[in-house]
Amino acid sequence: MLRTPGAVRDAERHTAHNYHPLPVVISSAEGAWLTDVDGRRYLDCLAGYSALNFGHRHPKLIEAAHAQLDKLTLTSRAFIHDQFADFCKELAELCGKDLVLPMNTGAEAVETGIKVARKWGYQVKGVAPGQANIVVMEGNFHGRTTTIVSFSTDEDARADFGPYTPGFTVVPYGDLDALTAAIDENTVAVLLEPIQGEQGVVLPPEGYLPAVRRVCTENNVLFIADEIQSGLGRTGHTFACEHEGVVPDMYLLGKALGGGIVPVSAVAANADVLGVLKPGQHGSTFGGNPLACAVATEVVRLLATGEFQRRSAELGERLRAGLEGLLGKGLVAVRVRGLWAGVDLDPALMTGRQACERLMERGVLAKDTHGSTIRLAPPLVITEEEIDHAVAQLAAVLAG
Ligand code: PLP
Repeated sequence: MLRTPGAVRDAERHTAHNYHPLPVVISSAEGAWLTDVDGRRYLDCLAGYSALNFGHRHPKLIEAAHAQLDKLTLTSRAFIHDQFADFCKELAELCGKDLVLPMNTGAEAVETGIKVARKWGYQVKGVAPGQANIVVMEGNFHGRTTTIVSFSTDEDARADFGPYTPGFTVVPYGDLDALTAAIDENTVAVLLEPIQGEQGVVLPPEGYLPAVRRVCTENNVLFIADEIQSGLGRTGHTFACEHEGVVPDMYLLGKALGGGIVPVSAVAANADVLGVLKPGQHGSTFGGNPLACAVATEVVRLLATGEFQRRSAELGERLRAGLEGLLGKGLVAVRVRGLWAGVDLDPALMTGRQACERLMERGVLAKDTHGSTIRLAPPLVITEEEIDHAVAQLAAVLAG
């Protein structure tokens, strides 16, 4: 008898239904492959929303975690531990910034970025008390805290969670005139995703990010790039901003930074920005803990080789070619950057959810978003053959 149906029921019985997972129950994984409780194998085309860029259980990351578990797991930041300095130094170098501030989840990195930008606004820019404003984008996704959902334009994410945090102005993503018009003397930052992942891998118009950089510099406004999903190799570069040679004032990082093992996030910026924080003004019990630092240092070293960025760029072209071959055969739009794709299905054919259920039956796991869009974000260790396999299964699903 199959164990999956009972395991799905058990999983739903005692939990809040804040997710609608596919009815699959995974029990082990390696590289790009998952195995369920009934021994069926699936190609992972979500990679934990890009938290698994290096695949499941990458040997170097598992080794680092095991070694650290045998030595030291937590001190809190009240004391310094021996994994902290290397992690901060090597991540700062990878980002080309002076300083990093480690936290745990992506939302915490975003909250940290907002707090730092506001404090910088009051203490460095000279914004009047209580007036700091941050310009954000329509269609954004930056996490789930009350402040972050306050400026979400997704009603599911926002409705009934008020009262909302003030101090944000929303403008259309990719509209430079709207952005410029929204900036005034109280603007401390522009916060955006260089590619909007949750929105369906939406790419900004070419030239937009460099223009945002220019406008921010001209107006003494911080450019905060949320690279929590787009960063760390996913798009064929270390950072998605690099595609247009843009350097933000602040990177927000998360997901893949923890190697798919531990939650690790970070803010990276120069000392004139992150230096505004003084002892007692911000923190986290688990932020920068020894286990997190040991794993994340190995993540940074994997990225420093450039191998994963190269794989993503090269294999991404194969994924693009495969997906573009399905245009007119059930797909109406395809957006690809590195090993990250948003594909819009012909809504008359099926919903994204239905497509993902049918892909699951064919041994491929992906995630729908916004009706008829599916995201594909396989681990960067995926092979050419596996990409062809995923595309072939999608073709079969679309062909009915
Ligand atoms: N920012 C972006 C761009 C994200 O994609 C996400 C998660 O999907 C977050 C922030 C929030 O990260 P977390 O779920 O770790 O809080």
